[in-house]
Amino acid sequence: MLANILEKTNISYEIFEKTKEIKPVGAIITISPTVLPAFEQLGLYEDFLKMSYPVTGTDVRNKDAKLEASITIENFKQLVGYEFAVCQRSKLYDLLLSRVPDNKIHFGKRVVSLLQNKEGVMVRLHDGATVHGDILVGADGAYSAVRQHLYKQLSNMGKLPKSDSKPITKGFFCMAGITNPLDPQKIPDLKDEFCHCDTIIPNDGKYSWNTLTLPGNIISWGTICQLDSETYINEHLRNSEWSPEENEQLIKELLPSGGLGAVNAILDAVVLANCIYEMKIATYDAVTDALNEYREQRYDEAKAQYESSKFSGKVYYGHTMMERAIRHVVVNYMPPSIQSYGVAKAMACRPQVAFLPLIPNRGTTEVIPQKPSAKYFAEQARVATV
Ligand SMILES: Cc1cc2nc3c(=O)[nH]c(=O)nc-3n(C[C@H](O)[C@H](O)[C@H](O)COP(=O)(O)OP(=O)(O)OC[C@H]3O[C@@H](n4cnc5c(N)ncnc54)[C@H](O)[C@@H]3O)c2cc1C
Repeated sequence: MLANILEKTNISYEIFEKTKEIKPVGAIITISPTVLPAFEQLGLYEDFLKMSYPVTGTDVRNKDAKLEASITIENFKQLVGYEFAVCQRSKLYDLLLSRVPDNKIHFGKRVVSLLQNKEGVMVRLHDGATVHGDILVGADGAYSAVRQHLYKQLSNMGKLPKSDSKPITKGFFCMAGITNPLDPQKIPDLKDEFCHCDTIIPNDGKYSWNTLTLPGNIISWGTICQLDSETYINEHLRNSEWSPEENEQLIKELLPSGGLGAVNAILDAVVLANCIYEMKIATYDAVTDALNEYREQRYDEAKAQYESSKFSGKVYYGHTMMERAIRHVVVNYMPPSIQSYGVAKAMACRPQVAFLPLIPNRGTTEVIPQKPSAKYFAEQARVATV
């Protein structure tokens, strides 16, 4: 996503990706309306709509698949101007990749370490090659090598916060996949051009399941197991593409249930690009200021998203007495209009690319105003007077 945004600037960048070739990875991705104005700005929105289905809620079923309740987000498009949408993860990846010139992405290049000083940052790749730049963005996933090296350096300097050195103490294990195209005559839900989402939550045990219909007569499936802290530590369940993950540093333990990990990574990219764009020159101080500004703009919101993700995890997949009680109340007693309003309010932060024409708010709920780009306005004024 960051590359897609930087393509709109004259800021040079290069991507180093450890996989040698692109393989379709992962099942689905739910995209929240918070990123859709930026998609519109970048010309991604129309293509995204073609490859996705809107999601307006989920049916909650018991262990015999009997319908217990329907959670619906009513009038959401009216409130926010967009809907939640779900698509195959590989399709979104392909869409974003299609806008990145081939010469700017280097496959089969694994980052193994980094060094930074006042002159910039140096990255060492697995083949021994080194690359120099002004800023390194570690978008390398749950087991980020960049983060691990930063943490190591911070730890050596005695600057690593205690919370970042703690082991993970609890979590969920998730396995997910998608089917091949199925026959809509046999599964009539596939005929609808919206997502049928079903969540099976037994009242005993620690597993939940979900299915979602997707364009192309495909169904995505997932099974989620709640782990106790002992299991997590003793079994050394490693985070991978298909287990819960932490996106540490700014965003911690965003559960897949919340549909927020990638969404927040995209929002990070938007805000980071805005801050980098504003720099007049890439000196150490300017980079430090830009990154401080990025933290200022993102940290509280990212933390709030983390809490929200944790809550969604409890509502959908938690199996403790308390979590079942919360689910019971949310599913059975909270009016859909209140649920919708709550979700819409949580969508108030929708940062856009500050140096592209802004997309107006199409919903009836408010959007948090964003910091305008002084550089963009100056450039626009200059263009207007030429
Ligand atoms: C089951 C499941 C469902 C999810 N559903 C959703 C959802 O519906 N909505 C949502 O918003 N989020 C969802 N998420 C979370 C989302 O997938 C992640 O938060 C997001 O992909 C993180 O983006 P990233 O760019 O940091 O890392 P990734 O998407 O993991 O990408 C990291 C990339 O870096 C490469 N890489 C790794 N190490 C190195 C290295 N050393 N050198 C070079 N390259 C390297 C990897 O090959 C990979 O291409 C889900 C996650 C899971 C597990």
